[in-house]
Amino acid sequence: MRFSQMFSPTLRETPAEAEVISHKLLVRAGFIRKSSAGIYSYLPLGQRVLKKIETIVRQEMDGSGSQEIMMPILQPAELWLESGRWYVYGGELMRLKDRHDRDFCLGPTHEELITALVRDELNSWRQLPLRLYQIQNKYRDERRPRFGLMRGREFVMKDLYSFDRDEAGLDISYQEMFDAYVRVFSRCGLDFRSVEADSGAIGGSFTHEFMVLAESGEAEIIYCSACSYAADGEIAAAKMPSPQEAEEGEITLVATPGQETIQEVAAYLQIPESSLIKTLFYKADGKIVCVLLRGDRSLNEIKLKNTLNCFELDMADHQDVLKITGCQPGYVSPIGLTGSIPVYADDEVRLMVNGVAGANQKDYHFKNVKPGRDFKIDATGDFRQVQAGDACPKCGKKLNSARGIEAGQVFKLGTKYSEKMNLYYTDENGEKQLVVMGCYGIGVSRTLAAAVEQNYDKDGIIWPIAIAPYHVVVVPTATDGEIFQTAMDLYEKLLGSGVETVIDDRDERAGVKFKDADLIGYPIRITVGKKWTEAGQFELKQRREKEAELLTPQAAIERVLSLIAAGTASA
Ligand code: ATP
Ligand code: MG
Repeated sequence: MRFSQMFSPTLRETPAEAEVISHKLLVRAGFIRKSSAGIYSYLPLGQRVLKKIETIVRQEMDGSGSQEIMMPILQPAELWLESGRWYVYGGELMRLKDRHDRDFCLGPTHEELITALVRDELNSWRQLPLRLYQIQNKYRDERRPRFGLMRGREFVMKDLYSFDRDEAGLDISYQEMFDAYVRVFSRCGLDFRSVEADSGAIGGSFTHEFMVLAESGEAEIIYCSACSYAADGEIAAAKMPSPQEAEEGEITLVATPGQETIQEVAAYLQIPESSLIKTLFYKADGKIVCVLLRGDRSLNEIKLKNTLNCFELDMADHQDVLKITGCQPGYVSPIGLTGSIPVYADDEVRLMVNGVAGANQKDYHFKNVKPGRDFKIDATGDFRQVQAGDACPKCGKKLNSARGIEAGQVFKLGTKYSEKMNLYYTDENGEKQLVVMGCYGIGVSRTLAAAVEQNYDKDGIIWPIAIAPYHVVVVPTATDGEIFQTAMDLYEKLLGSGVETVIDDRDERAGVKFKDADLIGYPIRITVGKKWTEAGQFELKQRREKEAELLTPQAAIERVLSLIAAGTASA
């Protein structure tokens, strides 16, 4: 490709709204352009990267016994009413009506559609197992579309669905998909980790996420270096705390004038924050619940939501809290709450002996509080956010934390959809049996962004060679004469060897060309210039390396071929 003809408008300025590096760089380097919030066009460079990721995904899916199909994006509401998700999916579902006033939605995922598709065609156990997938645009009206391609409202996803006779069959499908995902992300050249995760709106019982490790990741990963434990912070657990061994004191009212926050009360009473009982009020589907945590802990809303089994969970507002406790936040307490408000205590709170809690009275707290003795607990459980330093639930060693971008997820759905939507097969004995399903997604466009989040420097993107838009840019330092002609020859030779090559034939200074090459992030740059005239050598510089290598034309081509072979080797 001649750069002079490429539709690749680079920008000197960073777009004002871009918060994360992939968004900034992909816009500046001319890979994408915004159309509206969370909706983008892919320019030629962006489209090439997208296709490369899709190719890797396709090869690994086909290679693990799956067949590609294409289902409609536009889906009738009836299917979603059948599964029960028309209302559950909430505001994220892009809904629309046709001219006959019938309800439709734009597919955010395709469990309903594929279950309906397969149930009409599936008769015998002989047709199972079956794995079908597609790669297409998905639509989710995200509350906060942001971070460019990372959280779009229209995005490219690979979604695969497995159909098995029983749980044992699903176990095999799940493991084979898991292994295929490992190969996909390895082949993309990404540093990633698979973690146990929450199943969210898709449902089902067992799931792993594939996290691309990057500082900017929205997800927190909790992992153990001593054993294999790794989980999304949304569900990560820690070892059960041991009971406190202390003599029980008598509950006593103490003045804490003007001390409202955990930090203030702890400092005022000269006790660690972990001796306080944090009292929170939440609204679960409109009903108020009280949640208790140790003072130094924060609530994990996903864990609470899963325990309460509710759709909506929000913090109770000021007025509600005032009505329940007769007191302003800062001094609220489970002590003296009326019986109608259920109290959920984190396991650590249940084991406290001489805690400090609010008194539901301004400027006062209670000390020597014993949960269970001084107030009732309706349920205990793990409601806290696990932090680095907590003990691993598997081996007890210290846990670590890292940030990650969720690029893929695999789910065991079980019979959730087959039950709701009547997906059966007939077994060898002529009996009707429910099909056991799994679903497996990869955010193709998010993976593109995640690759940038993990591979960049102050000058621009550094594409892993396997998904780079082009492998090589050839930069002649002159626009005519022998230098230019030699560069053109090299360009033709590289193309002839199957190397995806751009020649920067623009009438620009070498410095400008280098800047754009770094910004765009070609893994290899070959400069034809002074060193050619002086010594018959090209300067080959890998984007990731500081120094250039001086090579003869033949050696340069060989080097390029070996770098590509090393970077695109199958996992
Ligand atoms: P998240 O928790 O980030 O909202 P999710 O768990 O809802 O994602 P899934 O339903 O598991 O997402 O979708 C499969 C994959 O699709 C995700 O692993 C992710 O890579 C991608 N994906 C999901 N939502 C978006 C989005 N809004 N923009 C881009 N990619 C997305
Ligand atoms: Mg997910």
